Amino acid sequence: MSVVVLGSANLDLVYDVDRIPAPGETVLSRSFESFPGGKGLNQAIAAARSGAEVHFLVALGKDAAGDRLAAEARDAGIDLRDRRVDAPTGTAVIYVDRDGENSIVVNSGANATLVDLTEAEVAAIAAANLLVLQMETPPTTVRAAARVAKANGTTVILNAAPSGSVPAALLGEVDILIVNEHEAADLAGQTADAPDQSLSALTTHGCAVIVTLGAAGSLVGAPGQPTAKIPAITVTPIDTTGAGDAFVGAFAAALDNSGRATNPDLRTLIGATEFATTAAGIAVQRKGAVPSIPTLEEVRLHSA
Ligand code: ADP
Repeated sequence: MSVVVLGSANLDLVYDVDRIPAPGETVLSRSFESFPGGKGLNQAIAAARSGAEVHFLVALGKDAAGDRLAAEARDAGIDLRDRRVDAPTGTAVIYVDRDGENSIVVNSGANATLVDLTEAEVAAIAAANLLVLQMETPPTTVRAAARVAKANGTTVILNAAPSGSVPAALLGEVDILIVNEHEAADLAGQTADAPDQSLSALTTHGCAVIVTLGAAGSLVGAPGQPTAKIPAITVTPIDTTGAGDAFVGAFAAALDNSGRATNPDLRTLIGATEFATTAAGIAVQRKGAVPSIPTLEEVRLHSA
Protein backbone atom coordinates (compact mmCIF):
# COMPACT_ATOMS: atom_id res chain seq x y z
CA MET A 1 0.00 0.00 0.00
CA SER A 2 1.25 3.45 -0.75
CA VAL A 3 0.15 6.99 -1.52
CA VAL A 4 1.59 9.09 -4.35
CA VAL A 5 1.13 12.83 -4.01
CA LEU A 6 1.76 14.88 -7.16
CA GLY A 7 1.78 18.56 -6.44
CA SER A 8 3.31 21.86 -5.46
CA ALA A 9 5.90 22.85 -2.91
CA ASN A 10 6.51 26.47 -1.96
CA LEU A 11 8.63 28.29 0.54
CA ASP A 12 6.30 30.68 2.40
CA LEU A 13 8.03 33.94 3.33
CA VAL A 14 5.94 35.53 6.08
CA TYR A 15 6.42 39.18 7.09
CA ASP A 16 4.60 40.61 10.12
CA VAL A 17 3.81 44.26 9.37
CA ASP A 18 1.83 47.02 11.09
CA ARG A 19 -0.08 47.52 7.90
CA ILE A 20 0.05 46.11 4.39
CA PRO A 21 1.96 48.56 2.13
CA ALA A 22 -0.07 50.63 -0.32
CA PRO A 23 1.24 50.98 -3.93
CA GLY A 24 4.53 52.94 -3.87
CA GLU A 25 4.89 52.60 -0.09
CA THR A 26 7.68 50.96 1.91
CA VAL A 27 6.97 49.57 5.38
CA LEU A 28 9.33 47.92 7.86
CA SER A 29 8.56 44.37 8.91
CA ARG A 30 8.24 43.60 12.65
CA SER A 31 9.41 40.02 12.17
CA PHE A 32 10.09 37.50 9.44
CA GLU A 33 9.88 33.71 9.26
CA SER A 34 9.93 31.19 6.42
CA PHE A 35 7.90 27.97 6.35
CA PRO A 36 7.47 25.02 4.00
CA GLY A 37 4.17 25.23 2.13
CA GLY A 38 2.32 24.51 -1.08
CA LYS A 39 -0.68 22.18 -1.08
CA GLY A 40 1.25 19.21 -2.45
CA LEU A 41 3.96 19.32 0.22
CA ASN A 42 1.48 20.02 3.03
CA GLN A 43 -0.69 17.07 2.03
CA ALA A 44 2.30 14.75 1.53
CA ILE A 45 3.57 15.60 5.02
CA ALA A 46 0.08 15.14 6.50
CA ALA A 47 -0.26 11.69 4.91
CA ALA A 48 3.23 10.68 6.08
CA ARG A 49 2.60 11.84 9.66
CA SER A 50 -0.60 9.76 9.60
CA GLY A 51 1.51 6.70 8.89
CA ALA A 52 1.25 6.29 5.10
CA GLU A 53 4.13 5.32 2.83
CA VAL A 54 4.26 8.50 0.72
CA HIS A 55 6.00 9.15 -2.58
CA PHE A 56 6.01 12.86 -3.48
CA LEU A 57 6.35 13.92 -7.13
CA VAL A 58 7.36 17.58 -7.27
CA ALA A 59 9.49 20.10 -9.17
CA LEU A 60 11.96 22.17 -7.15
CA GLY A 61 14.52 24.75 -8.23
CA LYS A 62 18.26 24.24 -7.92
CA ASP A 63 18.40 26.75 -5.09
CA ALA A 64 18.52 27.03 -1.31
CA ALA A 65 14.72 27.06 -1.07
CA GLY A 66 14.61 23.77 -3.01
CA ASP A 67 17.20 22.23 -0.66
CA ARG A 68 15.22 23.37 2.36
CA LEU A 69 11.91 21.93 1.08
CA ALA A 70 13.59 18.65 0.08
CA ALA A 71 15.01 18.36 3.60
CA GLU A 72 11.59 19.07 5.16
CA ALA A 73 9.99 16.35 3.03
CA ARG A 74 12.69 13.78 3.84
CA ASP A 75 12.55 14.64 7.55
CA ALA A 76 8.84 13.81 7.45
CA GLY A 77 9.71 10.34 6.15
CA ILE A 78 8.57 11.01 2.57
CA ASP A 79 10.16 9.24 -0.39
CA LEU A 80 10.93 12.39 -2.37
CA ARG A 81 10.92 11.99 -6.16
CA ASP A 82 11.92 15.56 -7.00
CA ARG A 83 12.88 17.01 -10.33
CA ARG A 84 15.45 19.81 -9.95
CA VAL A 85 14.66 22.31 -12.72
CA ASP A 86 16.08 25.56 -14.10
CA ALA A 87 13.40 27.71 -12.48
CA PRO A 88 13.23 29.15 -8.98
CA THR A 89 11.53 27.05 -6.29
CA GLY A 90 7.94 28.21 -5.77
CA THR A 91 7.58 30.96 -3.20
CA ALA A 92 4.73 32.79 -1.50
CA VAL A 93 5.37 36.24 -0.06
CA ILE A 94 2.86 36.81 2.72
CA TYR A 95 2.28 40.06 4.62
CA VAL A 96 0.26 39.71 7.82
CA ASP A 97 -0.95 42.90 9.52
CA ARG A 98 -1.81 43.50 13.19
CA ASP A 99 -5.43 42.45 12.58
CA GLY A 100 -4.32 39.14 11.07
CA GLU A 101 -5.37 40.27 7.57
CA ASN A 102 -3.01 39.07 4.90
CA SER A 103 -1.92 39.86 1.39
CA ILE A 104 -0.17 37.15 -0.64
CA VAL A 105 1.87 36.98 -3.84
CA VAL A 106 2.65 33.47 -5.16
CA ASN A 107 5.36 32.72 -7.68
CA SER A 108 4.70 29.19 -8.96
CA GLY A 109 8.26 28.98 -10.31
CA ALA A 110 9.36 25.35 -10.56
CA ASN A 111 5.79 24.11 -9.92
CA ALA A 112 4.70 25.55 -13.28
CA THR A 113 7.33 23.48 -15.12
CA LEU A 114 5.55 20.18 -14.34
CA VAL A 115 3.97 20.11 -17.79
CA ASP A 116 4.44 16.41 -18.48
CA LEU A 117 5.14 13.18 -16.62
CA THR A 118 8.41 11.27 -16.80
CA GLU A 119 8.45 7.49 -17.22
CA ALA A 120 9.49 7.11 -13.59
CA GLU A 121 6.58 9.31 -12.45
CA VAL A 122 4.12 7.30 -14.55
CA ALA A 123 5.49 4.08 -13.01
CA ALA A 124 5.17 5.48 -9.46
CA ILE A 125 1.51 6.41 -10.06
CA ALA A 126 0.74 3.04 -11.65
CA ALA A 127 2.25 1.16 -8.70
CA ALA A 128 0.45 3.15 -5.99
CA ASN A 129 -2.75 2.39 -4.13
CA LEU A 130 -3.85 6.04 -4.10
CA LEU A 131 -2.96 9.20 -6.05
CA VAL A 132 -3.54 12.60 -4.42
CA LEU A 133 -3.79 15.66 -6.70
CA GLN A 134 -4.47 19.38 -6.26
CA MET A 135 -4.79 22.29 -8.70
CA GLU A 136 -1.47 24.05 -8.02
CA THR A 137 0.07 21.93 -10.80
CA PRO A 138 -0.66 22.61 -14.51
CA PRO A 139 -4.17 21.16 -15.20
CA THR A 140 -3.02 19.12 -18.19
CA THR A 141 -0.52 17.29 -15.96
CA VAL A 142 -3.14 16.74 -13.26
CA ARG A 143 -5.38 15.20 -15.88
CA ALA A 144 -2.61 13.07 -17.38
CA ALA A 145 -1.75 11.73 -13.90
CA ALA A 146 -5.42 10.93 -13.21
CA ARG A 147 -5.61 9.01 -16.49
CA VAL A 148 -2.51 6.96 -15.67
CA ALA A 149 -4.02 6.16 -12.28
CA LYS A 150 -7.37 5.14 -13.76
CA ALA A 151 -5.73 2.87 -16.30
CA ASN A 152 -3.78 1.09 -13.55
CA GLY A 153 -6.39 0.72 -10.81
CA THR A 154 -4.91 3.49 -8.63
CA THR A 155 -7.65 5.40 -6.78
CA VAL A 156 -7.65 9.13 -7.59
CA ILE A 157 -8.29 11.75 -4.88
CA LEU A 158 -8.56 15.31 -6.20
CA ASN A 159 -8.48 18.25 -3.85
CA ALA A 160 -9.85 20.80 -6.33
CA ALA A 161 -8.14 23.79 -4.74
CA PRO A 162 -7.56 26.58 -5.42
CA SER A 163 -10.89 26.92 -7.20
CA GLY A 164 -11.39 28.21 -10.69
CA SER A 165 -8.84 26.07 -12.48
CA VAL A 166 -10.52 22.66 -12.80
CA PRO A 167 -11.21 21.37 -16.34
CA ALA A 168 -14.73 19.85 -16.33
CA ALA A 169 -13.52 16.62 -17.97
CA LEU A 170 -11.12 16.01 -15.08
CA LEU A 171 -13.99 15.31 -12.68
CA GLY A 172 -14.94 12.26 -14.76
CA GLU A 173 -11.49 10.79 -14.02
CA VAL A 174 -11.62 11.30 -10.27
CA ASP A 175 -12.76 8.72 -7.70
CA ILE A 176 -12.96 11.00 -4.66
CA LEU A 177 -13.30 14.78 -4.84
CA ILE A 178 -12.46 16.81 -1.71
CA VAL A 179 -13.41 20.51 -1.68
CA ASN A 180 -14.35 23.16 0.84
CA GLU A 181 -17.80 24.72 0.61
CA HIS A 182 -16.60 27.66 -1.54
CA GLU A 183 -14.78 25.41 -4.00
CA ALA A 184 -17.82 23.09 -4.09
CA ALA A 185 -20.14 25.98 -4.91
CA ASP A 186 -17.77 27.29 -7.55
CA LEU A 187 -17.39 23.90 -9.23
CA ALA A 188 -21.11 23.10 -9.09
CA GLY A 189 -22.24 26.60 -10.08
CA GLN A 190 -24.25 26.89 -6.85
CA THR A 191 -24.22 29.28 -3.90
CA ALA A 192 -21.97 28.50 -0.91
CA ASP A 193 -24.91 28.43 1.52
CA ALA A 194 -26.24 25.17 0.05
CA PRO A 195 -23.26 22.75 0.27
CA ASP A 196 -25.54 19.70 0.23
CA GLN A 197 -26.88 20.80 -3.16
CA SER A 198 -23.36 21.41 -4.45
CA LEU A 199 -22.40 17.94 -3.25
CA SER A 200 -25.35 16.28 -5.03
CA ALA A 201 -24.54 18.16 -8.23
CA LEU A 202 -20.89 17.10 -8.08
CA THR A 203 -21.69 13.40 -7.53
CA THR A 204 -23.33 13.40 -10.98
CA HIS A 205 -19.78 13.26 -12.38
CA GLY A 206 -19.66 9.74 -10.93
CA CYS A 207 -17.25 10.43 -8.06
CA ALA A 208 -17.61 10.33 -4.28
CA VAL A 209 -17.56 13.87 -2.87
CA ILE A 210 -16.47 15.29 0.47
CA VAL A 211 -17.28 18.92 1.21
CA THR A 212 -15.46 20.39 4.21
CA LEU A 213 -17.31 23.04 6.19
CA GLY A 214 -14.67 24.41 8.59
CA ALA A 215 -15.93 24.36 12.20
CA ALA A 216 -19.16 22.75 10.95
CA GLY A 217 -17.33 19.55 9.91
CA SER A 218 -17.96 17.95 6.54
CA LEU A 219 -20.44 16.22 4.24
CA VAL A 220 -19.70 12.86 2.62
CA GLY A 221 -21.64 11.60 -0.38
CA ALA A 222 -21.43 9.22 -3.31
CA PRO A 223 -23.60 8.76 -6.42
CA GLY A 224 -27.01 7.39 -5.46
CA GLN A 225 -26.19 7.33 -1.72
CA PRO A 226 -27.59 9.44 1.12
CA THR A 227 -25.27 12.25 2.28
CA ALA A 228 -23.65 11.78 5.70
CA LYS A 229 -22.77 14.73 7.92
CA ILE A 230 -19.61 14.37 10.04
CA PRO A 231 -19.30 16.95 12.85
CA ALA A 232 -15.95 18.69 13.48
CA ILE A 233 -14.28 18.14 16.85
CA THR A 234 -15.00 20.98 19.28
CA VAL A 235 -11.86 23.06 19.73
CA THR A 236 -10.70 26.65 20.15
CA PRO A 237 -9.00 27.37 16.83
CA ILE A 238 -5.66 29.21 16.92
CA ASP A 239 -4.72 29.11 13.24
CA THR A 240 -6.80 27.43 10.54
CA THR A 241 -4.12 27.83 7.83
CA GLY A 242 -3.71 24.52 6.06
CA ALA A 243 -6.70 22.84 7.77
CA GLY A 244 -7.85 21.55 4.40
CA ASP A 245 -4.40 20.15 3.60
CA ALA A 246 -4.15 18.41 6.99
CA PHE A 247 -7.59 16.92 6.27
CA VAL A 248 -6.76 15.68 2.74
CA GLY A 249 -3.42 14.09 3.72
CA ALA A 250 -4.87 12.37 6.78
CA PHE A 251 -7.87 11.18 4.75
CA ALA A 252 -5.59 9.62 2.10
CA ALA A 253 -3.51 7.84 4.76
CA ALA A 254 -6.61 6.48 6.51
CA LEU A 255 -8.13 5.26 3.25
CA ASP A 256 -4.82 3.66 2.22
CA ASN A 257 -4.64 1.95 5.58
CA SER A 258 -8.25 0.72 5.43
CA GLY A 259 -7.32 -1.86 2.81
CA ARG A 260 -10.39 -0.79 0.81
CA ALA A 261 -9.00 2.10 -1.20
CA THR A 262 -10.27 0.70 -4.51
CA ASN A 263 -13.98 1.39 -4.97
CA PRO A 264 -14.45 2.30 -1.30
CA ASP A 265 -18.02 2.10 -0.03
CA LEU A 266 -19.67 4.96 1.85
CA ARG A 267 -18.85 3.38 5.22
CA THR A 268 -15.13 3.29 4.38
CA LEU A 269 -15.24 6.90 3.18
CA ILE A 270 -16.97 7.96 6.39
CA GLY A 271 -14.34 6.16 8.50
CA ALA A 272 -11.48 7.93 6.69
CA THR A 273 -13.34 11.25 7.00
CA GLU A 274 -13.71 10.80 10.75
CA PHE A 275 -9.96 10.21 11.07
CA ALA A 276 -9.22 13.27 8.88
CA THR A 277 -11.66 15.38 10.92
CA THR A 278 -9.76 14.59 14.12
CA ALA A 279 -6.38 15.29 12.46
CA ALA A 280 -7.55 18.64 11.05
CA GLY A 281 -9.23 19.55 14.34
CA ILE A 282 -5.91 19.03 16.15
CA ALA A 283 -4.06 21.05 13.48
CA VAL A 284 -6.26 24.16 13.86
CA GLN A 285 -5.31 24.38 17.56
CA ARG A 286 -1.67 25.04 16.67
CA LYS A 287 0.16 27.70 14.66
CA GLY A 288 1.43 27.21 11.11
CA ALA A 289 0.45 24.79 8.37
CA VAL A 290 3.16 22.08 8.40
CA PRO A 291 4.16 22.44 12.09
CA SER A 292 0.53 22.00 13.16
CA ILE A 293 -0.06 18.67 11.36
CA PRO A 294 -0.46 15.88 13.96
CA THR A 295 1.12 12.42 13.99
CA LEU A 296 -0.84 9.17 13.94
CA GLU A 297 -0.21 8.72 17.69
CA GLU A 298 -1.69 12.15 18.44
CA VAL A 299 -4.81 11.42 16.38
CA ARG A 300 -5.20 8.00 18.06
CA LEU A 301 -4.74 9.49 21.53
CA HIS A 302 -7.40 12.07 20.79
CA SER A 303 -9.84 9.45 19.53
CA ALA A 304 -9.21 7.02 22.43
P1 ADP B 1 -10.04 24.75 3.99
O1 ADP B 1 -8.84 24.98 4.86
O2 ADP B 1 -9.73 24.00 2.74
O3 ADP B 1 -10.91 25.95 3.77
P2 ADP B 1 -11.98 23.86 6.01
O4 ADP B 1 -11.90 25.22 6.61
O5 ADP B 1 -13.31 23.38 5.58
O6 ADP B 1 -10.96 23.68 4.79
O7 ADP B 1 -11.38 22.85 7.09
C1 ADP B 1 -11.11 21.49 6.80
C2 ADP B 1 -11.46 20.65 8.01
O8 ADP B 1 -10.69 21.10 9.13
C3 ADP B 1 -12.91 20.74 8.47
O9 ADP B 1 -13.73 19.81 7.76
C4 ADP B 1 -12.80 20.39 9.95
O10 ADP B 1 -12.73 18.99 10.11
C5 ADP B 1 -11.44 20.99 10.33
N1 ADP B 1 -11.62 22.35 10.90
C6 ADP B 1 -11.47 23.54 10.26
N2 ADP B 1 -11.77 24.57 11.08
C7 ADP B 1 -12.11 24.01 12.28
C8 ADP B 1 -12.53 24.52 13.56
N3 ADP B 1 -12.65 25.84 13.78
N4 ADP B 1 -12.81 23.62 14.55
C9 ADP B 1 -12.67 22.29 14.35
N5 ADP B 1 -12.29 21.76 13.18
C10 ADP B 1 -12.01 22.59 12.16
